[in-house]
Amino acid sequence: MSGILAVLQDSNGHITRLSWEAAAAARRLGGESPVAAVVMGAQTAPLAAEAAAQGFTRIIRVEHALLTPYTADAFTAALEQLIRANSPDYVVFPHSYQVRDFAPALACRFGQVLISDVTAIGDGPFFTRQLLQGRLNATYRNTGNGPCFVSVQAGAFRAESAKTQPAAPAEPEIFPPTLDAAQIRTRPGEPFRGTAQTVDLGSAQRIVSVGRGIRDAANIPLVEDLAQALGAELAASRPICDAGWLPIERQVGSSGHTVSPRLYLAVGISGAIQHLVGMKGSQCVVAINKDPDAPIFEVADYGIAGDLFEVVPALIEGLKTAR
Ligand SMILES: Cc1cc2nc3c(=O)[nH]c(=O)nc-3n(C[C@H](O)[C@H](O)[C@H](O)COP(=O)(O)OP(=O)(O)OC[C@H]3O[C@@H](n4cnc5c(N)ncnc54)[C@H](O)[C@@H]3O)c2cc1C
Repeated sequence: MSGILAVLQDSNGHITRLSWEAAAAARRLGGESPVAAVVMGAQTAPLAAEAAAQGFTRIIRVEHALLTPYTADAFTAALEQLIRANSPDYVVFPHSYQVRDFAPALACRFGQVLISDVTAIGDGPFFTRQLLQGRLNATYRNTGNGPCFVSVQAGAFRAESAKTQPAAPAEPEIFPPTLDAAQIRTRPGEPFRGTAQTVDLGSAQRIVSVGRGIRDAANIPLVEDLAQALGAELAASRPICDAGWLPIERQVGSSGHTVSPRLYLAVGISGAIQHLVGMKGSQCVVAINKDPDAPIFEVADYGIAGDLFEVVPALIEGLKTAR
């Protein structure tokens, strides 16, 4: 193995947690082989300092004025030059929206594909990713010539394990790519700003979370009653928020909140990986689902295989009686 590049993404001037998770995956992939951290932008010194604090002994600062703000064209061109100069065996990314935007095109420039959304890395190495809403795990191995491009699912690796004690302090290298403004075909708009939060799911101790099994917005009061009876916050899977049945700030999962309550009660939620990564840190998971083979039962401590429209009213009644 001639080397691994872990490409770290920043947000508001700091390297994202998802990037440290990808760096942990890169370390898992490399074993004893060194992993180089790659930071990108117009001013990368603070990002390089963050990478050094995590114990990276090789840090590459891909620096150019045209790399801030982000554009797919500039990132693809800059990383292509870096990869051709370094010939790594693996290039590892966080599976962020930004990476989804440019990494498939980057991989194509090397005649490769992006092995995306990886949830585990086995010896070989084999990369696992889920198919069909988490019902199948597929494993992939790089059989092509050239670097293997991998993006890592949120929550699949522990960010803390990216950190090591370096033998010697890192001396960041600067890699100035050759970029021309004419190469960049897009003009970035204002970054998206979310609305102010009115609920803090991250610190909730009990959460009742509702999924598509609830069938209709008109049925949401049923789970609201359950949440109230339990003294819990109400949360939801993505389709519920996408449909506008509950606000987006109540979404749990890879594109929503990460929660770690003492109790997580999943009602009519299948257990897709994008949902699981947001709640698998919960201390006790209880699932209600009419499909006994639903993937949510694999992470549940207690499961009720049944119709939520029968189970939830009975639970509410039981909780009221127990008071
Ligand atoms: C890039 C990306 C990001 C994503 N981010 C997120 C995210 O942040 N959060 C998230 O949740 N999802 C996310 N998703 C979507 C995710 O892949 C799933 O589609 C979603 O989690 C499924 O939601 P669900 O479990 O509510 O619905 P479904 O998968 O449709 O499951 C509904 C479940 O309800 C059960 N059910 C139906 N009727 C009843 C009943 N009467 N009683 C009991 N059980 C019943 C069914 O058996 C089924 O298991 C993302 C997807 C992508 C591609």
